Amino acid sequence: MAEYCSQCTPQKGFDIDLFEISLKLERGYSTAFICEGCNNRAIYKDEQGLIYLVRYEQDDYKYYPLNIEELLT
Ligand SMILES: [Zn+2]
Repeated sequence: MAEYCSQCTPQKGFDIDLFEISLKLERGYSTAFICEGCNNRAIYKDEQGLIYLVRYEQDDYKYYPLNIEELLT
């Protein structure tokens, strides 16, 4: 069954809620998932509480700082 994250599926019915994952994450931990619609692969929260979106691009995992407010729209 294909699963899609809330970033690439703006309408209701997505399976992977990036906002909820970000809220539940403890500092220093990441939650991995596989979205069928985009390259998002994990959410990571560092020791300072900053949140990163981990995307798989060009055979490598890249970390992008994520503003949690962007997930609310
Ligand atoms: Zn996605």
